[in-house]
Amino acid sequence: MKNEIIQRFVSYVKINTQSDENSTTCPSTEGQLTLANQLVEELKAIGMTDASIDENGYVMATLPANTEKKVPTIGFLAHVDTATDFTGKGVNPQIIEQFDGSDLVLNGAANVVLGKKDFPSLSNYIGHTIITTDGTTLLGADNKAGIAEIMTAMDYLIKHPEIKHGKIRVAFTPDEEIGRGPHKFDVEKFNADYAYTMDGGPIGELQYESFNAAGLKLTFRGTNIHPGTAKGTMVNAAKIAMEFHSALPADEAPELTEGYEGFYHLLSFQGDVEETKLAYIIRDFERENFEARKALVEKIVADLREKYGQDRIAIDMNDQYYNMREKIEPVKEIVDIASDAMKNLDIEPIVSPIRGGTDGSQLSYMGLPTPNIFTGGENFHGPYEFISVDNMEKAVHVIAEICKLFEERAE
Ligand SMILES: [Zn+2]
Repeated sequence: MKNEIIQRFVSYVKINTQSDENSTTCPSTEGQLTLANQLVEELKAIGMTDASIDENGYVMATLPANTEKKVPTIGFLAHVDTATDFTGKGVNPQIIEQFDGSDLVLNGAANVVLGKKDFPSLSNYIGHTIITTDGTTLLGADNKAGIAEIMTAMDYLIKHPEIKHGKIRVAFTPDEEIGRGPHKFDVEKFNADYAYTMDGGPIGELQYESFNAAGLKLTFRGTNIHPGTAKGTMVNAAKIAMEFHSALPADEAPELTEGYEGFYHLLSFQGDVEETKLAYIIRDFERENFEARKALVEKIVADLREKYGQDRIAIDMNDQYYNMREKIEPVKEIVDIASDAMKNLDIEPIVSPIRGGTDGSQLSYMGLPTPNIFTGGENFHGPYEFISVDNMEKAVHVIAEICKLFEERAE
């Protein structure tokens, strides 16, 4: 099975599918459509039924039930796009068999070395087949590993009809990395009771808690006067912006928080005396704290408006997604089944909150409860990204085992 996984994965990562926040189309980039169309053909070739792509580039397909029992319909999802943080053009995957734990010089010229000094978790992969970049691009294991795993699992179930399962749906979706993945996802057409995204990191990861998330944009307007004659007239927008930032709790920043701690993250600060713009993201696991964070922002803005004038500050604050736990806890058995599936395969489930969001965060609120499962990759979104093929194979078996357990536990 390993060769099959490698073949699929390599063929996917060679297509540049980086999404683009500045694009208004769906998918945001052409490359995503190229891969999506290739996936439709592959789904048909392995024997999936009604494989299709819609006008927005969402790929869906079905594996019909092979049991008489009434089993819930389960979906598996992965996203076709790759991150915008680092280039995904010209990915040249390096396959290392029987990894011996020694430092891997990915790119000698640029001194890009994947070694245990910076990445101690590498020692978990001794003896594995791992796939790395050549140091000049990201790898795209996020999330093409998920696609390869779902595809291989469906192929495996088709070739092993003795494994009984209910109706299975798969979907490959665009633009997750720019937060638009679920925006045009047709939940009704997908018609699954529950789903899993195969979009996590190291083996064992199982996640059903995400941040509550908001985006915040502030524009400060000043009055620029020659500094020699500015007394009493000049209003410095950059300084009001600094005053705003100083009023936020200094220790509630991403670089100072972990686990269940939330934060305000200053993404960008651009401006001058005349006009200054700040962009933030606000994150918290608890809904109440999340609301309190947004209320604090509004309070600081109100105070500064009081001080400098109502029209000096424009605020644009929007919720982006919510903690999926609220929607998954009532159907916790779907987490338990994933956890049991891992245990049956001697994988220790690592249930931890995601300090971020997945497509599942939004899908769960659209009526499709969707926890997240490991792919086996690490260091996503940059040149140090790598993945263990051994653990991808385990992910394939986890998918098959989940399908099997839902059947076994049905009436
Ligand atoms: Zn991802």
